[in-house]
Amino acid sequence: MRDCFEIRDGDAGGRIGQLTVPRAGVTVETPALLPVVNPNLQTISPARLESEFGAEILITNSYIIRQTDRLREQALDVGLHELLDFDGAIMTDSGSFQLAEYGEIEVTTEEIIQFQLDIGSDIGTPVDIPTPPDVSREQAEEELEITQTALADAEAIDTGEMLVNAPVQGSTYSDLRERAGSHAEATDLDVFPVGAVVPLMNAYRYDDMVDVVAGAKRGLGADCPVHLFGAGHPMMFALAVAMGCDLFDSAAYALYARDGRYLTVRGTEHLEELDYFPCSCPVCAEHDPADVRGFDEDTQERLLAEHNLHVTFEEIRRIKQAIRSGNLLELVETRARGHPAMLDGYRALLEHAEQLEREDPVSKGSFFYLSNESARRPEVLRHHERLDRFDLSGDVLLTQGGTPKEHDFDAVWRVVPPLGPFPRALSETYPLTAEVPERFDDDAYLAAADGVSRLAEANPEVSVTLAHDDWPDAALDALPERVHRENLVRSHYADSDSADGETGQ
Ligand SMILES: [Zn+2]
Repeated sequence: MRDCFEIRDGDAGGRIGQLTVPRAGVTVETPALLPVVNPNLQTISPARLESEFGAEILITNSYIIRQTDRLREQALDVGLHELLDFDGAIMTDSGSFQLAEYGEIEVTTEEIIQFQLDIGSDIGTPVDIPTPPDVSREQAEEELEITQTALADAEAIDTGEMLVNAPVQGSTYSDLRERAGSHAEATDLDVFPVGAVVPLMNAYRYDDMVDVVAGAKRGLGADCPVHLFGAGHPMMFALAVAMGCDLFDSAAYALYARDGRYLTVRGTEHLEELDYFPCSCPVCAEHDPADVRGFDEDTQERLLAEHNLHVTFEEIRRIKQAIRSGNLLELVETRARGHPAMLDGYRALLEHAEQLEREDPVSKGSFFYLSNESARRPEVLRHHERLDRFDLSGDVLLTQGGTPKEHDFDAVWRVVPPLGPFPRALSETYPLTAEVPERFDDDAYLAAADGVSRLAEANPEVSVTLAHDDWPDAALDALPERVHRENLVRSHYADSDSADGETGQ
């Protein structure tokens, strides 16, 4: 367990955690958003971020402070907290972004870590190389080595109570991200930013982002606090949290406001094109879009930035509550309906269901089947894996209907798509209490057929009969030959105690 991070609650790969930041004397609850504060240009002052928006932590750039005479002198003189007028925790970036942008910077890891220490940063960052997506493998490997040297350099410095970031790079190569994650975890550094994902997000490549994070998480292990570096659009927070990210930083709230863009959890709108504000934050409650367009540019920008921050913090709170309530994946599924690229992201997440399953709580509040993607959730996978453990004998009926009034079966189990078969005695256990629609899709039937197959394969001596509610051919064809099929719509098994035949409610 990392000393500075404690996990309190979880759902899928998401968790509510406590990040203890000793130098600031504060404990930050995660998932947390770090507003990015440009030390030269404050759209919303850090004091307001704290008092009005509830920001417990922010991030600013120590490289910009170091390169700007006035800021450097002031920061060294009074310290970062007084310079920014902020009592919470302050994370500082190192100039890696500038390095990626301009090709070189005038500072080493030793110098910038020492500077961050001198100005009173609470979480410092070494000079890593943010290798962009899609570069050659050779470049990704070479740059990863430089990043790993930077981590070693940072580790060698006595940083006292200051926590230090250990960025995880590796471009779009999942195995390199995994290797980088293992390497970072083996250091004594504290917080783990997954770096250089901004180009993926700007290009709406949420599926690739999920793969990159999944790789890093495999290397890092469960107890590391993970920061998705540069991720600030509320639309993708739920997805990233479900994948196991704990910290986000938003420059988006200010940058988008500067371009007249209005953030929502379903995507980005342009102030010019809005007739109504779909939001009740203080800005949107008080103004309509025409009002805001009537203000001078600075006021427009400030109001948009305020709205953008409100909607961003609101989504973080919604995600925390979803983790507590055990319906984070339902929220991810809802967000996936906001944009086709988000749907790709969610589908990519489900490809990592096995990885998520390891951390997903065994019991939660609810499982709502909301779309064909629900058929691939970690809970379904886990139930199917458990079917191997049941020892059955003789003749077994698996039925979507009730137990027949008269029968010669040795056992009668229920079948509910997408979960498949389970003993009636477990009907009240999660996720078998799933709320499912009356009109199933093919993926639900196929998943149920998977479950039936697994049970049949684990019990080769048993005679299995499936009484189904007119399953499509694709699902029936997926069953082993030896499973007898009875179509409930036509068979005598339909004539049974109907109260017993209802799906779990
Ligand atoms: Zn608003």
